[in-house]
Amino acid sequence: MPVANFVLGPIQTNCYVLHKNSNAVIIDVGGDPKEVLTYLDTNKLTLSAICITHLHFDHIYGVAALAEQTKAPVYVPQGDSAIADTEASKGGIWGLPTVTPFSSVPIEPHETVFADMPCRILPTPGHTPGSLSYYFPEEHCVFSGDALFYRSVGRTDFPLGDSSLLFASIRKELFALPGNTLVYPGHGPSTTIHDEKANNPFCGDFC
Ligand SMILES: [Zn+2]
Repeated sequence: MPVANFVLGPIQTNCYVLHKNSNAVIIDVGGDPKEVLTYLDTNKLTLSAICITHLHFDHIYGVAALAEQTKAPVYVPQGDSAIADTEASKGGIWGLPTVTPFSSVPIEPHETVFADMPCRILPTPGHTPGSLSYYFPEEHCVFSGDALFYRSVGRTDFPLGDSSLLFASIRKELFALPGNTLVYPGHGPSTTIHDEKANNPFCGDFC
């Protein structure tokens, strides 16, 4: 179950490639996907799906280019349609570029299979209203987007952010996963559920 990480775009967003056999799934694409395409090519991987944790510009800058090159379907959180028309989603703030539009399939939390790997899509709203985390139980890992980071949690000062909702998501969905689950966040280093339960300074009082 290799996981490759590419840090892409102006906000240094993690783009993950999870693969099994010759099939791959990609979580978030925050910038030019050139090195990701090379990785897929070198490892002879077929991209089955592009899964987006939330519709913030820094997680989707490279989606249009990657989808065009690979023809893989793009899955986005249904609940983030509420912010799709904001600058936080379309880009253009802080002098940064705007996001190239792409077609996508809205999804809600459910159980499915991506690239031959069972996946439980968890509702982890708070950073955005529709944020999703992608949990792969057989691979013992979860892609938490900007809900949970190594020793930190997501901001809630963007449109429709909600800190009490965020802490409830972390407590009910993420901290309910097995302690040895690897956590791959949207930014920064990976961690584990056990480690964040014990050491995350933001979660002590709330989680
Ligand atoms: Zn975000």
